[in-house]
Amino acid sequence: MEAAGADYHHLDVMDGHFVPNLTFGPLLVEAAARVAAIPLDVHLMIADPLTYGPLCARAGAAMVSFHFEATPHVHRVLTHIREAGAQSGVALTPSTPVEVLGPVLPYLDLALIMSVNPGFGGQAFIPESVDKVARLRRFLDDRAERPVLIEVDGGVSDKNAAALFQAGADILVSGSYLYGAPDRSAVMSALKG
Ligand code: ZN
Repeated sequence: MEAAGADYHHLDVMDGHFVPNLTFGPLLVEAAARVAAIPLDVHLMIADPLTYGPLCARAGAAMVSFHFEATPHVHRVLTHIREAGAQSGVALTPSTPVEVLGPVLPYLDLALIMSVNPGFGGQAFIPESVDKVARLRRFLDDRAERPVLIEVDGGVSDKNAAALFQAGADILVSGSYLYGAPDRSAVMSALKG
């Protein structure tokens, strides 16, 4: 993926609790950090980001995002991730409105819009996500006093990448679409536009 032109490695940490699927934890993040030549972007789909967010940051992640829906302590988790040395982000499932980010904007480096329901790869892109990205872009332009990156994750392909960038996305995550492609460099260039 580095040879194909990726800017980050996106690692989906799932706990079999916040989402039904189970993947890996901070040990694999640490192992990946040892061999990766580009920054690690860790997306926590777990019920306890307060414990594992800082651990992933210390394991070498450049960015750590967790779900707004997973914890009542969004501000605390954001600050603990930053204190552990990573950029901090909040992820929103398709049914959570972007306005919930208002109170924590000063503590946010990254907002991740999920364009499928979290849990499994290979799901179909939810078309309303493009409008949601545009709404978030306007919200951040109006309210944020420092830059916040917008990342979109789920069902990203050549059918929606241009619209997502146009709506204001900074980072697109591609999983099965990219990994399943015979020529990953060509697909990566097509996605970046
Ligand atoms: Zn993800």
